[in-house]
Amino acid sequence: MIFAGADPTGGAGIAADIQTVSALGCHPAPIVTAVTAQDTAGLKQYTVVDTDLLIAQARSVLEDMPVAAFKTGMLGNAANLAAIATIVSDYPSIPLVVDPVLTTGAGDELSEQPLEDGYRSLLLPLATLVTPNSIEMRRLATNADSPEACAQELMSLGCEYVLCTGSHEPTTEVSHHLFGHHRMLETINQPRLPHDYHGSGCTLASACAAGLAQGFEVTAAVREALAFTWNTLAKGHQLGMGQHLPDRQYWARRDPNNKANS
Ligand code: PLP
Repeated sequence: MIFAGADPTGGAGIAADIQTVSALGCHPAPIVTAVTAQDTAGLKQYTVVDTDLLIAQARSVLEDMPVAAFKTGMLGNAANLAAIATIVSDYPSIPLVVDPVLTTGAGDELSEQPLEDGYRSLLLPLATLVTPNSIEMRRLATNADSPEACAQELMSLGCEYVLCTGSHEPTTEVSHHLFGHHRMLETINQPRLPHDYHGSGCTLASACAAGLAQGFEVTAAVREALAFTWNTLAKGHQLGMGQHLPDRQYWARRDPNNKANS
């Protein structure tokens, strides 16, 4: 079950999540939190879904179908964040992946109010895995500076694992750090890709949720999700005039020169 905002480019948001979990063999139950108007160059406007309607979407599905994992993306405002925390707290055995979306890649805020306090007090304590990029991690961990200290602070709030992604850091390779059990578990390095991408964080968090939904341990789900996401970016396209979009269907693309496909 995915709580996320709609992005009409299909690059980020709920379309990205639906494509990702479908590509990885899961059925998505998409709960829309907000509707944005944007193109690949930037955000124009958005409206947040009424909290009662958000709750009704989720409760309808939860009372009808089994759910194997939760994933949150853009939430839109503090009321929606609180409502989602209440809903997921009723299902403590279902893994929860929190992508703590605060802004678009260009830095436009994606919430009517600051959400840091809500994430810290309501959602992170319920999370199996939280997947901040390094900018989000610094905003959420108010009392720490180094990645290790920030992750320790987030884990002390109650989330089990923290995957801090490194593409925003000025490094030659991109280094992602996975923390759990109050220590750093592993660093996964990936070659830096040449473009600016829209929807990479959504793809990664949804791929982690798909792995957890299928029974993978967190470390295995994270490794697979990072590899899948890197491939979607490496095979991505510049479909508009701004950021490149991941290609989450790259594995289904047929090569006309390959007789095995005919
Ligand atoms: N969700 C929505 C609806 C968005 O518009 C965006 C970014 O524009 C995001 C999430 C976060 O996207 P990314 O995966 O690029 O961090």
